[in-house]
Amino acid sequence: MNEPSLKKALSKINIGGLRYFDSIGSTNDEALAWAASGAKDFSLVIANEQTRGRGRLHRTWHTPKGSALAVSLILRPDEIIKPHLSRTVGMSALAITDSLLSMGLNAKIKWPNDVLLNEKKVAGILVESVWSGSDVDSLVIGMGINVYKTSVPPDGSLRFPATSIENELDKEPPTREEILREILSAFIRWREKLASDELIKTWEERLAFRHWQVQIISNDEVSQTGVLDGLEADGSLRLSDENSNPVIVRFGDVSLRPAA
Ligand code: ATP
Repeated sequence: MNEPSLKKALSKINIGGLRYFDSIGSTNDEALAWAASGAKDFSLVIANEQTRGRGRLHRTWHTPKGSALAVSLILRPDEIIKPHLSRTVGMSALAITDSLLSMGLNAKIKWPNDVLLNEKKVAGILVESVWSGSDVDSLVIGMGINVYKTSVPPDGSLRFPATSIENELDKEPPTREEILREILSAFIRWREKLASDELIKTWEERLAFRHWQVQIISNDEVSQTGVLDGLEADGSLRLSDENSNPVIVRFGDVSLRPAA
């Protein structure tokens, strides 16, 4: 992967700009700085390696050289998108799962921000925003997708099992450029449907552990338990407690786990 190969693969997609790095600290940091200094809508920061890739709550995201897709997409939300910003992470997960499903893989979304294959994490999403007073100026959507086996972190360093596309596919994976083109094409389709019921319905259908007994972990403690029921219109998670009453879990630094 390099800048010319990316530009060629993305030639039919209307991107705002592209910054490619063979190695970078974090693509989201670069994209946040670029967004604050006027990047156009649908600009991309892509790296072959991240040395300080970030997850939520300052957790690290592992991107060894040549192993994965590390992409940050800058969006400038318009008035149609703004009322539905809480759906952004779901829209991104739908784009990633569309590309995996087209490879014949059974991709699921672990609410709120991870994509799983065979109950193992193959991709993570980190959405961050740049504000102008009380108005959101831009969104940075960081996506880390494990393509080759070399992207998978060592077991002992993980909070949740991990895998890669190469591990789960019984043939050579598509190139990273091809995977990115599929994700961005899907992203453009879902963005047009951001306000639709179809987006929530499809997100819900792709939820990992749906109808399972699950736990919500917050600050390393179990904060809620229940059967994973579905999603609210804003993308919040709905569980059903032991008396079959709904429990709504809002976005935040919470992690979902199947109950032990
Ligand atoms: P979890 O449900 O795993 O607690 P999270 O959404 O809180 O997920 P994130 O902040 O999205 O986690 O991602 C950071 C975590 O993901 C790290 O703490 C590490 O356990 C794991 N991780 C880091 N790099 C990778 C990778 N390349 N593939 C899979 N998992 C990774």
